[in-house]
Formats: sequence, C-alpha cells, structure tokens
Amino acid sequence: MGSAGTSDYHRPMTRDRLAIVIAAYNEAHALPLLQPRLARVMDALADEHDVDTTVVYIDDGSDDATWSVLQRMADEDRRISLLRLSRNFGKETAMTAGLDRVEDGAAALILDADGQDPPELIPQFVAKWREGYDDVHGTRLEREGEGWLKRTTAHAFYRVIGRLSQTPIPADTGDFRLLSPRAVAALRQLRERHRFMKGLFGWVGYNRVAIPYHREPRAAGRSAFNFWRLWNLALEGITSFSTVPLRLATYLGLLTAMVAFVYGVVIIVKALFWGDRVAGWPTMMSVILFLGGVQLIALGLIGEYLGRLYEESKQRPLYLVDTWLPGAGVCSGQA
Ligand code: UDP
Ligand code: MG
Repeated sequence: MGSAGTSDYHRPMTRDRLAIVIAAYNEAHALPLLQPRLARVMDALADEHDVDTTVVYIDDGSDDATWSVLQRMADEDRRISLLRLSRNFGKETAMTAGLDRVEDGAAALILDADGQDPPELIPQFVAKWREGYDDVHGTRLEREGEGWLKRTTAHAFYRVIGRLSQTPIPADTGDFRLLSPRAVAALRQLRERHRFMKGLFGWVGYNRVAIPYHREPRAAGRSAFNFWRLWNLALEGITSFSTVPLRLATYLGLLTAMVAFVYGVVIIVKALFWGDRVAGWPTMMSVILFLGGVQLIALGLIGEYLGRLYEESKQRPLYLVDTWLPGAGVCSGQA
C-alpha cells in the first residue's frame, strides 16, 4: 500500500510501536464489530505510518461468551494478545492490567470495546505523539445515544472534579487516549488500589494535547455503568484526588460552632435581662438535630478517607490473572 514508494533502504531502523489496550466486560456482541475496524486501522498504520501495532484485550471477568470470542479473534490475527482476569475487577483495574502488559518502549492507546471511541482516529493520535506529545486524549464533542440525565450529571462531575483536583483533569475526556512510552512507564509506577485513571493520567503530567471527537453510540450490548456505579466512580475520583471535602468538614464544623456560640450568647443575655422562661423545646430540638447532622456528615467524610487508607494499607495485588496469551510481537510479559 503506502509503503510501495519507499524502499526498505529508507525505512527507519526501528519502527514505532503501539499497543492498543482494550478492556472488555461482557462485550461478546460488540467485539466482532470492533476488531475488523481496528484491523484495518492497524494495517494502515503499518503500511502508511511505519507503526507496528499490537492489541491487548483484557477480559475483565465477563460472564458471557467474551472469552471464546476473543480466542477466536486471536487465532485469526497474531497481533492480538489476550489477558483474562480472575474475576471482574472493574474497568480502571482492567486497563491497568492491560497497560502492565505493554512492552517496554511502546506507546499505549486505550480504547473502549464497544466502538464508542472510533479506532479510525488512531492515526491522528499517533501524529500528535510524533509531534512530541506524551498524553494525547480524546475530548468528546457530544454524546450520542446517551440520555439527558447521564449527559448533565457527567458534565457536572467534570466541572466539580476539575475545580477540586490539584492536578489537571480535562473536562469531557474519557479514557480514549494515547500515552507515550515514558507516560506508560510513569503510570505503571502508580500502584494505588483506588484507581481513578482520569486523575492518574493528569498526575503523570508531561506534554498533553486534546483531540476533539464525536463519541458514537454503543455498537452493541449495553453500558455496564449504571448510576450507582457512576456515583461511586465520582466519589472515588473526588476522594482520591482531593482533600477539599475534608477541609469542607472542618469549615462546616467551624461555622456551626460560631453560630452556636453567638446563639449561646443571645440565650444567656436573654435569660439575664428577661429571666428564664422555660419553654424553648423546639429551639433545643432543632439545634441538637442540626448539630447531630453536621457531625455525622463530618464523620462520614473522614470515614471515606479512612476507608481508602485501610484499603491501601492491605497492600493486595491490584488484580489476579487467570490466563495470559501473548500474541506475536509482544516480548514483555510478567506471569
Ligand atoms: N468495562 C470493563 N469492566 C467493567 C465495566 C466495563 O472492562 O467492569 C469496559 C467495557 O467493556 C467497555 C469500557 O469498559 O469496553 C466502557 O464501558 P461502558 O461502555 O459500559 O461504559 P460507558 O461507555 O457507558 O461509560
Ligand atoms: Mg461505552
């Protein structure tokens, strides 16, 4: 194809290598739609852009036919490596497992299995990488096929976390991104258990650039992220990347204490001048309830962080591997 004009003599001695990392959880219907698109892009990358690509699919403990579908795909294409986790660890951890398998010196590109991130854009990501960017991330222009509620809550979440976090977390940016070899190496050093990848990418730093793209509706199957899971992910993000809520608890406490003090003075003054006419049960009740509420909120906040501390202190491995089937062109590979 595109290599027709360039003789082997002019080929660069070492070609750039790119590993595409795809976490899949119950994606048996979407994967057969994605892989042919991806294979075409990989061919084009090899022929026209001098990039050798491999794919690492991570089966995140699926309980449908995902694993057998993946095995069939790997039989047909030697560039595919398969990693099966021992159970469902969640997308953030599955991506980490995939990144751990990326060979040294290769860049990594993270892609959703459901076709929502168009693989056809990968050459654009590669072009930015070659311009010297370490973190090329796709920014969604709009979200098709997603309801009003998800769009508004997602929008609000990115605004809140963007303000609270000390490291940049670009708005409307998912996990569709390319990481240069040194960014991959850096990310691999972050072994915290509570993983909020969007925040971890930002922590790594280096040169960052956004590529706007249209996020397509899911090709098949349905989203594994219901509102409870998204809410938990949001909590994860906020508590992992910001201690502002803890400080908020302090301020809330201070404020209530101040109000209570002023009110106390008012009561004393009133009693001194006008005598103590009992009654006052409603006031007392409301003050007690209010203070109780504030204390519980503050305790809950502290508990959130304490829980994370506890999880980290256990030092468990992030995930367990069931099967690792490396394809051709993958040299690294811890068991
Ligand atoms: N995913 C995963 N483990 C999970 C949930 C999801 O690996 O526990 C994968 C899923 O297969 C897909 C990607 O994460 O490739 C995004 O998931 P989904 O499409 O459900 O999320 P959404 O696009 O709705 O945010
Ligand atoms: Mg999706």
